[in-house]
Amino acid sequence: MIIGSGFSSLSAACYLAKAGFDVSVYEKNDTVGGRARQLVKQGFTFDIGPSWYWMPDIFERFFNDFGKSTADYYKLDKLSPAYKIFFSDDVITIGDSMDKICAEFERIEAGSSAYLKKFIAKAQENYDIAINKIVYRPGLSPFELVTKDTALRVDQFFKTISGQVRKKFKNPKLIATLEFPVLFLGAKPSKTPSFYSFMNFADFGLGTWHPNGGMYKIIEGMKSLAEELGVRIHTGNAVEKILVEKGQATGIIVNNTSIKADFILSGADYHHSETLLDPEYRQYSEAYWDSKTFAPSSLLFYVGFNKKLQNIEHHNLFFDTDFERHAEEIYDRPKWPTEPLFYVNFPSVTDKSMAPEGYETGFFLVPIAPDLEDTPALRQQYFDIIIKRLEKRTKQKVEKNIIFKESFCVNDFKEQYNSYKGNAYGMANTLLQTAFLRPGLKSKKVKDLYFTGQLTVPGPGVPPSLISGKLVSELIEQKRTH
Ligand SMILES: Cc1cc2nc3c(=O)[nH]c(=O)nc-3n(C[C@H](O)[C@H](O)[C@H](O)COP(=O)(O)OP(=O)(O)OC[C@H]3O[C@@H](n4cnc5c(N)ncnc54)[C@H](O)[C@@H]3O)c2cc1C
Repeated sequence: MIIGSGFSSLSAACYLAKAGFDVSVYEKNDTVGGRARQLVKQGFTFDIGPSWYWMPDIFERFFNDFGKSTADYYKLDKLSPAYKIFFSDDVITIGDSMDKICAEFERIEAGSSAYLKKFIAKAQENYDIAINKIVYRPGLSPFELVTKDTALRVDQFFKTISGQVRKKFKNPKLIATLEFPVLFLGAKPSKTPSFYSFMNFADFGLGTWHPNGGMYKIIEGMKSLAEELGVRIHTGNAVEKILVEKGQATGIIVNNTSIKADFILSGADYHHSETLLDPEYRQYSEAYWDSKTFAPSSLLFYVGFNKKLQNIEHHNLFFDTDFERHAEEIYDRPKWPTEPLFYVNFPSVTDKSMAPEGYETGFFLVPIAPDLEDTPALRQQYFDIIIKRLEKRTKQKVEKNIIFKESFCVNDFKEQYNSYKGNAYGMANTLLQTAFLRPGLKSKKVKDLYFTGQLTVPGPGVPPSLISGKLVSELIEQKRTH
């Protein structure tokens, strides 16, 4: 029995069904996908959450585990350029090869490409170690992190990515470019161990991809795979309680009806999942959760434009204000950002299916601290700020071409996903929130109760969620056979 239908739950559902379990999924929302659902409106298609397809090898590995490939479910394009970063006085374009990226680095800072090549070579080694030797381990013990390769790199767990980048690169724009990938892990680059530079290899080495039709194609593919394997999916069914008898999970209550199960796995936010238990069965206190570094929440806008926009790419980062100050306003002094950095995704630039002919689909994201006050007036205030910045940096007028917009923010994250403090992408990967130091996949207090998803192992993001589902299903299989 699985609670939730995000990437982690669907991944676990597929592995468990393949292993012969009778799997039922209960999802509170009307469609599957969790944070990765889809909004279709007036011919525009929006991915509600994730839009960056990084680490294509992990997606391939997932489908390969079932004798399939990604191509059986969706068509992938490598984006060229991968993305564009707008600064106040320049624009950096990240190409689809190291040669193009090196040329861009040289344009900004002569001599920087030699350092870049070394930095990415090291990042590639870390990627191989992380992906092939560490990340597929369940976080049960500190010894999982101890391998010959990590022992040689132990310093990289105590140095930060920020320190590492600043040692060799002096230009603030290049520093911001190299610090950007670890933002996906949910913490400040100055709090993220330098071992996570493998995200830089994912970025520059493996490239940025796009599934035709959007990220929701992956969810649709996983849903069909799960159903092919015999999984039954019940949407519009919020789980109200996890039943426990004498320390043993026995079932759930949905719509006032109790349903028995041998194993319960929750892919809903970990904090919420524990609130479905009677207090004596919860492993982590409110004080524990409150003391953790959570990934940011986000203010999101889904916008339909009735014209094609100029000077934009599929992915666009607006880093034209103070990166440090915005990061402090997320992590150190939580408040609405004074001058926000933001991200805009225009998938219709490369994929015609995402918008009506001659129109543009725009997804705007402003990262903000979790649990901030969220009102219609604040949302509008920030929309006005970012639209003006988009117009200024891309040198065009667009405001009058907006034919609709919808927004999503802290209150929606809480209401739609039972997200702790309205976090967008889980608990950050800092040194003290890595591997065995994260909330565990297996309950320590209730037998046969398990957890998966971005608040547990290995961490935030779509690829880690796929891996989380695999890891937890292996633990459940081991339990069955012992
Ligand atoms: C705005 C945004 C942008 C992102 N961008 C990227 C990106 O570009 N690339 C990337 O790799 N990652 C990105 N991420 C992160 C990525 O989307 C997540 O890490 C991943 O989707 C999390 O999956 P999950 O299975 O852990 O959780 P979720 O997707 O949250 O799934 C949990 C599910 O449980 C359900 N649920 C909750 N309570 C109950 C209940 N009581 N009963 C039944 N069901 C319940 C929820 O409705 C939800 O469907 C982004 C996330 C957001 C929000």
